[in-house]
This record gives sequence, structure tokens and C-alpha cells, in this order.
Amino acid sequence: MEPFAYRGGEMHAESVPLSRIAREVGTPAYVYSLARLRENYRAFVDAIDGMDAEVHYAMKANSNQAVIRAFGVMGAGADIVSEGEMRRALAAGVPASRIVFSGVGKKPSELRVAVEAGLQQINVESRAELDMLDAVARAAGKVVDIAIRVNPDVDAGTHAKITTGRKENKFGIDIDLAPEAYAHAATLPNLRPIGVAMHIGSQIVNLEPYRQAIRRMRELVGTLRAAGHAIDRFDVGGGLGISYRDEVPLPIAGFMAMVREETGNLGCRLSFEPGRRLVGDAGVLIGEVVVVKPGVARTFVVVDAAMNDLIRPTLYEAWHDILPAREPVGNVAKIVTDIVGPICESGDFLAQKRDMPPLAAGDLVVVKSAGAYGATMASTYNTRPLVPEVLVDGDRYAVVRPRQTYDELLGADRVPAWLE
Ligand SMILES: *Cc1c(COP(=O)(O)O)cnc(C)c1O
Repeated sequence: MEPFAYRGGEMHAESVPLSRIAREVGTPAYVYSLARLRENYRAFVDAIDGMDAEVHYAMKANSNQAVIRAFGVMGAGADIVSEGEMRRALAAGVPASRIVFSGVGKKPSELRVAVEAGLQQINVESRAELDMLDAVARAAGKVVDIAIRVNPDVDAGTHAKITTGRKENKFGIDIDLAPEAYAHAATLPNLRPIGVAMHIGSQIVNLEPYRQAIRRMRELVGTLRAAGHAIDRFDVGGGLGISYRDEVPLPIAGFMAMVREETGNLGCRLSFEPGRRLVGDAGVLIGEVVVVKPGVARTFVVVDAAMNDLIRPTLYEAWHDILPAREPVGNVAKIVTDIVGPICESGDFLAQKRDMPPLAAGDLVVVKSAGAYGATMASTYNTRPLVPEVLVDGDRYAVVRPRQTYDELLGADRVPAWLE
């Protein structure tokens, strides 16, 4: 069932009218559907049935602890990219034995806490990091399971800012240099190189880049084994896209069928790191119209949600469907509208040149598919408090992060006593 839909003329999240959340929690606010989160995770569980595989939720997409917990209790691990994310995953109840640490610039202090915590695996992205991690592990008296993130040099066919598997991207070790990196890793006594890892980009809706990358990785596994490395894990990464506008997402079952076909007799335990696909369509951002400014070229609808709350439109030229919370009645003529925030930046928009029914001050608008890279990328630019997050379950809801107060926001600054 579509969790965000008009019922009786009003947009609901499951069985809760968004207007009720707006009234009780205020706007702007993120609203998530627990049913959709679970449904999305279950699609992966069903698709890997019978495979030697596991799912690590890439929590940078949405790191609210309630969301992590929802997946964690269903058996998910976590893919983390910082010490902060490790702390969140552990706090949300994901055991260290199900956490994989990725990231291109882990600091020694972060590696130290990761090694102390006993994470499942650390995905190393450079030769220097191999040496750094070995030294950290030695000091802690531990031997650490690692994979090397390899850059297979494929074009994922996605937006330039979220493609990660090309030679010119900063991520991973070039596939041509990988055998040398593994040879080096094998000389380091406190590292156990047990796997290969890749992650070629985000919002990917084509199967072929994945297939091409997997084939290159499969060949690499053969090369590494021939050189004496005991490789038995293959981290396939994340990146599966969702439908924001008219994209056709890859069916999870079809994706897994391809993976099975390409890795069938490889003898590796697989892991998948979906982020966006698990949370993207499970969340909306609601905002209230502050003022309507009819212009010559187009009408500007200024809402109280802005680029600091949802940066995707301006950062990635992302398209989000935006609907009035009250269903338009009859055949209203649409007008060309820019939906913008109040921030002093021309880049502060949620939608441009959009055909919208007429909106008026006080109307509630709903930005769809905002569950991924929404709240986690929010900032307090223009001294706007971080917006609340709400989790809906059937006819009940909970505020899973209250709106930041002005006391919290301003209270974080320190003015030195000597500043006279
Ligand atoms: C961001 C990231 C993911 C998740 O990407 P999605 O497109 O959200 O699925 C997975 N793995 C790594 C290493 C990442 O950096």
C-alpha cells in the first residue's frame, strides 16, 4: 500500500493525516512511514533468500536511531562512514559484529575506536590506510578483517556528484593497482584481507554498470586467489535508485538474479549496502506556505521548508514531486510555480517551473521521496533550527527527533570572555 496518499481529500502518512502532524508538531517536519521502511527492507531479505548474503543498511541516507532500530530488529547490519555513525548504530542496537566501516578518509582516532569496538569489517580505501590500520590494530593487540574498496572504473550513469566508481573519483583503489595493494596488505601482520568491496555510485537505475563492475571484481578475485590471498567476501555496495519522477527503479529480485548469475560459483559471501532504496520513498518533508508572490515569468510560492532542510534540489538538481496536502478538487488550472524557501540564496528552491494548482498562505505542501539524504544533510544555515522527524506506524506516530530549540541552537556558541 502506498503510505503517502490522499484519503478523504487529505494526504495521509499511513492512517495519520499530515495536517494533524503539522498542527501538533509544526512545520517543516520530516515524516517517515514504518510500514514502508519494513516493506523496503523485506524486499532485500526476500531477494537474498537462499544466497550466502547479508544486508548492511548504509545509514548516512537516514541515520535517525529509530530508523536504524527498525532495520536492526529485522536483522540488518550497518554500513558506516564515520565514528559518529558507529556510535549511532551501536546506540540503536546494531551489534559491532554486523557493522562495516567504509570511507575514504578515516582518521587514526576513528580507526582506533572501530578496532576497539570489534567491528565486523573495515573497508580500506588506500595503501596509506592499510599501514595506518595495521599500526592501530597492532597497538590494540588485534587482528582486523578487512576488504579493500576497489574502484572498478565503470560509469554508473548517474549524476556527476553521486558517481563514485570512475578512475577520476576519489574512492577506492584503482582496480589495476589492487593486486599490489593486497600483496602489501598480506605483509601486514595485524590485517586479515578477506574480501573485496565496491560501491559505484548512487541513484543507479541501470543493471549493466553493476554487471560490468561485478565481472571486473570477479576477475580480480581470481587474480588475488591465484596470488595466494584467501578472499571469501564480496561487498557489492549500494546505489540502487528509486523513482523520484519517471525513473524506473531496478526490481530488487531482478538485480539479485543478475548478481547470482554473475557470482554463482565464486564462493564468496556477499554483502549489500543499500541506503536510499530502503528509506527514500518512506519519507516526506512537509512545509507550510508562508507567502505567494505572483511574478511576471512565474509565481513564487515561499514555504517554510528550505535548502537547509532538504538540499537535494539545489545540490543534485534533484526533482521531488510536491503536492498540496489538501487534494485539489475538480479541474483546477495549474500555474507555473517555483516553490522556494526563505533563505538568502537563489539556490534555495525545492522545485522550479513546476505546474502546480494555486496555493495560498497557510496551505500545507508535501515533498515526496525525501526519506533519503534529507534530514541527514540538513544544516542550521540562516540560524534555522534542525527540523523534527516523525515516525508513523498505522494510526499512531512518534516524534523521533524533536525540533531543535533556539536555546539549543544558540547555546552551542561560546563567546570568549576577552572579547570586549
Ligand atoms: C553512500 C554509500 C552507500 C549507500 O548508497 P545508496 O545510494 O544510498 O544506496 C553504500 N556504500 C557506501 C560505501 C556508501 O558510501
